[in-house]
Amino acid sequence: MSKPSLPGQSTKTTTQHQKIVLAFRQEQLQRDRRDRVLMNGCRPTIGTEPILTAPATRKERSRLLRWRLDWLPGQPRDCLCRQDRLTRKHVLECQLIPAHLWDTLSTPPPDSNQNTIDFALSALTISPTSPPPYWSDLLSILRLVDRYVHSDTVFPEEPAPGET
Ligand SMILES: [Zn+2]
Repeated sequence: MSKPSLPGQSTKTTTQHQKIVLAFRQEQLQRDRRDRVLMNGCRPTIGTEPILTAPATRKERSRLLRWRLDWLPGQPRDCLCRQDRLTRKHVLECQLIPAHLWDTLSTPPPDSNQNTIDFALSALTISPTSPPPYWSDLLSILRLVDRYVHSDTVFPEEPAPGET
């Protein structure tokens, strides 16, 4: 898909401008990823975020987006396990989340500064023909976190994670 050129502007010039703008934005993203914790959890290159296209129900996609935006778990509150506050960090070690759900997720390399969930989300590819093996486990983890955050809410039944 090419964008229309401005009057008097050659396609070659437009392409060069697009490359310069993309390079600038990519450089800015790298700087933001280095300086901001949440940006560090995002993908390293500019492009469509695969969580927008990966198979998920509306509620699951909402959880994925809220996780990326740090709205899930959101404001730290006491976790139902009573061991700690429910934070992004605690989610990774909360005893209420069944250990087997973490088995399919890869551990990020020590120098990445990404947590396991962000690392798994960053490993997604655009328009996967089939979701990765860890997809339903990751959606299950986020579903549990959403339920712990809204522990006073009755959640309606949902289809099995990733079964859309
Ligand atoms: Zn907990």
